[in-house]
Parts: sequence; structure tokens; C-alpha cells
Amino acid sequence: MVRRSIIEPFKIKVVEPLPMRTVAERERILAEVGWNLFGVHAADVTFDFLTDSGTTAMSAAQWGAMMTADESYAGSRSFYRFEEVVRRITGYQHVIPTHQGRAAEHLLFSLHCERGQIVPSNNHFDTTRANLEQLGVTAVDVVCSEGRDPHLEHPFKGNVDLARLEALLAEHRGHVPFVMTTITNNTGGGQPVSLENLRAVSAICKRFGVPFLLDACRFAENAWFIHVREPGQGSRPVREIAREMFELADGCLVSAKKDGLVNIGGFIALRDGAWVPDLRSRLILTEGFPTYGGLAARDLEAMAVGLDEVLDEAYLAYRVAVARYLADGLAAVGVPTMRPPGGHAVYLDARGFVPHIPPHEFPAQAVAVELYRAEGIRSCEIGSVMFGKRPDGSFAASALELVRLAIPRRVYTQAHFDYVLEGIAEIATRKDSLRGLRITDEPAFLRHFTARFAPL
Ligand SMILES: *Cc1c(COP(=O)(O)O)cnc(C)c1O
Repeated sequence: MVRRSIIEPFKIKVVEPLPMRTVAERERILAEVGWNLFGVHAADVTFDFLTDSGTTAMSAAQWGAMMTADESYAGSRSFYRFEEVVRRITGYQHVIPTHQGRAAEHLLFSLHCERGQIVPSNNHFDTTRANLEQLGVTAVDVVCSEGRDPHLEHPFKGNVDLARLEALLAEHRGHVPFVMTTITNNTGGGQPVSLENLRAVSAICKRFGVPFLLDACRFAENAWFIHVREPGQGSRPVREIAREMFELADGCLVSAKKDGLVNIGGFIALRDGAWVPDLRSRLILTEGFPTYGGLAARDLEAMAVGLDEVLDEAYLAYRVAVARYLADGLAAVGVPTMRPPGGHAVYLDARGFVPHIPPHEFPAQAVAVELYRAEGIRSCEIGSVMFGKRPDGSFAASALELVRLAIPRRVYTQAHFDYVLEGIAEIATRKDSLRGLRITDEPAFLRHFTARFAPL
């Protein structure tokens, strides 16, 4: 008999109450925070799908390791344990801890990029792009054409457009400090990159003599997708696939708040030692001594255990099944989502769901607000609130109106997702009555964090 239920491949030892509020309480809260979900206290959120970053539930083994951490300033035993795990998983010799991903980005970019250069990637994550742009470097997205179509079913929508990459490297010869690839491609919806594509990117970089770096926050999810989707990879252990991904590149930048299964932490790992002395000196200036890099040793212990745990195939099968379950459940009640679901999030297509709300009335924000008002679900608008403002302040509709439901790791159970799906199904029955919003107050930049709205 084939089992259809997803089971969480863990037992639960520590629990936390799920915050419950009434609809009336949430309506009062929404009015107080100006219908902006970033202003809602987490204690008033029942299901928090704002992000999968740093929201992981840690294991007993991680908490246990934290208790025995060595908090020495220099040469901590915990650092060497962490270094051993990163070396074993990646094959890279040089390991530099940082307090999170963007610190790793800032450290490496500020030393190895110059104004006027360009850095290609499938899609740059927003902190990656911002850290390059503030140095005067142009961040160029070269994701494959399939990756730009939100409804197309394709196994590897995170792949790099190889012809575009080659053309870019030929045109800007001498002005590309390195090529990056984000695995999985967060900005594109958590879509994976195939091994075949990584091999080709690696070969192109070698041919042009340009280093190749992975933005590897979700390396384990990417390796799992290769294992289940790429011809010829099904019989290889995920750990071996992950190792090959790293071997194709020269180094990686990692926010361990994702597949590190920790609440804080990150690192740079490099095959070659040439950049290391400068990185370590700058690390001492900005993050801390090279054997703790802005973290407590207990955080290094938690990362060391988490990086191994995340490669457990039962965990990865469950992880990816959850996103698929949520997306299929939404499709069953007529709620369109970006296809196929990625590893860490499901993106509800608000333009398809509430076509009667025009872009300047923020359809994705309207849906996000209703998910919270009716069901206590917090999601993240990725649409015209986030991207709809031109530098001159005028309105320009975002290409897509999405509501992202990011899934924290090991936090919610299948019963929680069933409950969430029932709630969204109920909203779907009366979606035609949803109304848009207008902005009543907004800052000059990054308005999605602090803007206030009023319902129309
Ligand atoms: C989260 C993330 C980062 C930045 O990491 P932080 O730990 O949030 O600073 C960089 N790249 C990708 C792909 C990410 O998902």
C-alpha cells in the first residue's frame, strides 16, 4: 500500500503554544498597524509564513551541542568542529564564519569587487544585489527563460542561461570579478539548478578564467531536487550530489539561517587560500576573530550539527513534500500558485486569484491582509507594494503580484497545513468580495516594511 500522508520524520520534545486571536482582535490590530503585516507582533500571528530564514526549530542534538560549546576567544574547539563539517560537506579548505549571509557578502564583495564591474547570477538575492550595487557593481540576472515564466512546469527553473552568460563574459572581459549562482534560486521562487547546468557554468567560468561562487543557502534542497528530478542522479546519495555541486565551484557564501538549520549564522568557504588573509583581516575589523566571526561558539556548534542534519534524505523528502502539499492543496480549491512549487515557499498568484483588483490597488497586499484577518496567517507581499514605485515616486505595476508563504523548517505539522488550507479555501469562496487598499503614508525607500494602508 502506498502511503500518502506526509509524516514529519521527527518526534517533538519541546513545544510552544500556537497564538490564537479572534477575527475581531485581528481587525483591531490591522487598523493599529495600518494594514501592514510587518507591524504585527508575532504573538498575534497563528501561522507565521513571513520567512523561512532563521525560523527553524532546532534539534535536541543541536541544543545538546550548544551546551558543550567552547566559548574561548581564540582557537575554540567549537570552531574546529564547525570547520571540519564544512570542509567535509563542501570540500573547501578555507572556512570563515560570519554572523549571517549578508555579512559574508559584504566582506567578500568589499574586498574583491570594484566600481564599474559586473557580477552575473541566475537571480541575485536582494541583499546580494544591494551589497554589490552599493559598491558601484552591476548585478546582472541571467536566469533561463523558463525561470521567468511563473506558470511553466519545468524541473530546473533556477538554471543559468548559458548563452547569455557567455556573451556577458565575452563583452565584459576583465570586468567580471566572479560569477555567482544561487542554489536554490530564492528570488525565482526557490527553483533548483541542475547539475548539468552547474557543470556548464563551471566550464564557462574556467574558459574565461573567472572564479565561480555559489550562493548556497539552500544547498541541501537543491541537491535533493537534483536527486529526484535529474536523469541519472536518482541512485546517488544527496550528500554526494551536494559535494559535486560544491566541487564545480571555487567557493560559496552561505546564510546558515536556511539549510544550516539555525536561527543565526553564516560563512564563506573557499577552495583556494589566496583571498583568505585579506578576508580574515577584514573579518577581525568588522565581525570578530576568525575562529568565531561574529557568533558565539554555541552558534558554531548548532551550525556544525545542522549542516549534517539537513542532508538527511528523510528530512529532505518531507521538506519538499510540504511545499508540494500546500501548492497542490491550493490548486484543488482554485487558488493559482507559481509552478512548480520550490523547496522553501509557495507563491500565491494574486493577479490570477483576484483579477478584479487592479495593480494600483495592491491585489497581493489585499490577499495577504485577508489571510491574516480571517485566519491569522502571516505571509509576505511580493508585488506592487514592494516593487511598484519608480525612483521618481510614480507608480509602475510590478511584473507579478505574489503572496509568498515561506515555510519555516520543522515548525508546523501536516495538521497545521490542513487547517491553513481549509482557511484559504473558505476565503476562496468569497474572493470576489475582496477589496484593494490605498497607501496613506510611505517612506522614501523600501516602503513595504513601514508603509501604512487603508482598505478601499
Ligand atoms: C537569506 C539569503 C541571503 C542573505 O542571508 P542573511 O542571513 O539573511 O543575511 C543571501 N542569499 C540568499 C539566496 C538568501 O536566501
